[in-house]
This record gives sequence, C-alpha cells and structure tokens, in this order.
Amino acid sequence: MGKKFPLPPWLEHTAMVKKKMKDRGFKMADRVQICEKCEEYAEETWALRGPEGLGGRDICACMNCGRARSWKGNGAGRVIEDPFDLPGFLGIG
Ligand SMILES: [Zn+2]
Repeated sequence: MGKKFPLPPWLEHTAMVKKKMKDRGFKMADRVQICEKCEEYAEETWALRGPEGLGGRDICACMNCGRARSWKGNGAGRVIEDPFDLPGFLGIG
C-alpha cells in the first residue's frame, strides 16, 4: 500500500533544530552513525552534560528519516526514551 508518511516537521527545519539544541547547551559529537531505521549514514549524536551529580542527556537523531532516541541520567538510573519526541522537547512542530 503506497501510504505516504509526512516528514517529521523538524526535518524541514534542521538548521533551527540545531540552533535550539545549541541554545540548550547540547554539543554535537563529531561522529555520525548509520541509522538503524533507514540505514542512511545520517544519525547525529548530541550530548548535554548536566551539573555535577545530575547526569545529562544524550540524544541520537537521524537527519534523514527523523528517528530520535534519548538517554537521560547516568548508571543504573539511566532512562531510555525510544522513540523520543524531539519536536516536543524543543517546542517546535
Ligand atoms: Zn534514519
């Protein structure tokens, strides 16, 4: 069935997404991974280091298909959100 899914809105605004991520203190890791969903070499990793003891947040987001995952906290308290609502997190879309 040729059902077409619209692109996630943030994929049309990747420049804005990147700016908002930087505004929040995220730093982009200088490596890009292969996305498990679309198999394109387009998954970027962003990391936020929180204040001492509070952990941080890591976000993997594919700039091709929009798949996003997030890890929050450290060690045993680490929480994975998959899929992750990146537009909602950034307040766009
Ligand atoms: Zn992808």
